[in-house]
Amino acid sequence: MSDEAKPQGLGTLAVHGGQVPDPTTNARAVPIYATTSYVFDSTEHAANLFGLAEFGNIYSRLMNPTNDVLEKRLAALDGGAGALSFASGMAAITAAIQTICHAGQNFISATSLYGGTWTLFTQTFKSMGIEVRFFDPDHPEQIEGLVDENTRCVYFESIGNPKNDVPDFRAIADIAHRNKLPVLCDNTVMTPMLLRPIEHGVDIVIYSTTKFIGGHGVHIGGAVVDSANFPWADDPERWPEFCGPSPSYHGAVFEEALRPMGNIAYIMHMRTHWLRDTGAAMSPFAAFLTLQGLETLHLRIPRHCENAQEVAEFLEAHEAVEWVNYPGLASHSHHATAERYLPNGAGAILGFGIRGGEAAGKRFIESVELASHLANIGDAKTLVIHPASTTHSQLSPEEQASAGVSPEYIRVSVGIEDAEDIIADLDQALRASGA
Ligand SMILES: *Cc1c(COP(=O)(O)O)cnc(C)c1O
Repeated sequence: MSDEAKPQGLGTLAVHGGQVPDPTTNARAVPIYATTSYVFDSTEHAANLFGLAEFGNIYSRLMNPTNDVLEKRLAALDGGAGALSFASGMAAITAAIQTICHAGQNFISATSLYGGTWTLFTQTFKSMGIEVRFFDPDHPEQIEGLVDENTRCVYFESIGNPKNDVPDFRAIADIAHRNKLPVLCDNTVMTPMLLRPIEHGVDIVIYSTTKFIGGHGVHIGGAVVDSANFPWADDPERWPEFCGPSPSYHGAVFEEALRPMGNIAYIMHMRTHWLRDTGAAMSPFAAFLTLQGLETLHLRIPRHCENAQEVAEFLEAHEAVEWVNYPGLASHSHHATAERYLPNGAGAILGFGIRGGEAAGKRFIESVELASHLANIGDAKTLVIHPASTTHSQLSPEEQASAGVSPEYIRVSVGIEDAEDIIADLDQALRASGA
């Protein structure tokens, strides 16, 4: 592609991004490179690879050619400079934060969080000496009052799972940047097809590829995408991990050594330190499955959104339903923000409150037939769950309330079946609930 070539569309990137036909076999599909290690050309080649004097394959905990295609494709879809795949979304979140936030330091997070992320932040990070400080995503100005000299980043979800609140990306990013802090955003629920956080000022984008990106409920995986926009080198004292000598690479200064290749110290440091030392690498088979899913992401997501909108409108008019939480509905508290940031659709996750509270909710969930009762989102299949007794059961009632989980809340991840069949199933289950 010449420099003047028109950038490719998201559909083309989803199908082709990061791939050339396999140079050894001419295979058109991305091969699964089931290998732990790679033969060195010479002792000098080996030494150069280990010393980062040359880039190349060493060992599949650090890099693998199948994963490499996935990483390049995800970076291209988000307009990032580089990406790194992980064994799970939780591994990606952990790496994204712990690359820049260490014992004795703190970071600032929105309260609307996926349940696993909440316990990671409040319990596991706490036990490691890392403090989380919460702000209400409806009030980004709270961030300012939480910053001190040990604050390292600001974290939020592009749409709260399951609260479905749509944050003001630009306001959060501007406040963080005024305080010289990078902005991390978990974009799992939106995917680059609905929202590209880097365009709204986010520096680092995080995914659980387990969900819509993989899209078929067949593997666990995660990824981090680096925009390469955050100016680490402007503040070398504050970011010694990139701007100071690295003891495990003979004192190499990552920021300087990598500068000719761009501002990629963060993502390279994550690969060569965090992934090398903690080992939560995605398997090449999972990378292959993720790539298969990605090839239809631009087709699936519009169908997910259309179906979710139809289901939301059906539920809103249903007598057994007390309220519906879907940002695509005019009645939603964040509808205006959704229209501004999500012009192509408000995603596939909706919540509703059933008349008759928790007991009716239980009967509803036990009565669905087409929909599956399980703990996942983003499958091609329609899924339902009761968050208060499952995904968010480890949270206190107050914490549940701040994450948007009330006792009567039922979460639906609307699939890509025919909308009328999804609606018929929900309708019969609502009747069976006795609500
Ligand atoms: C599922 C999920 C995660 C965790 O991802 P895993 O792949 O299950 O580890 C993180 N964030 C959000 C928003 C999720 O939905």
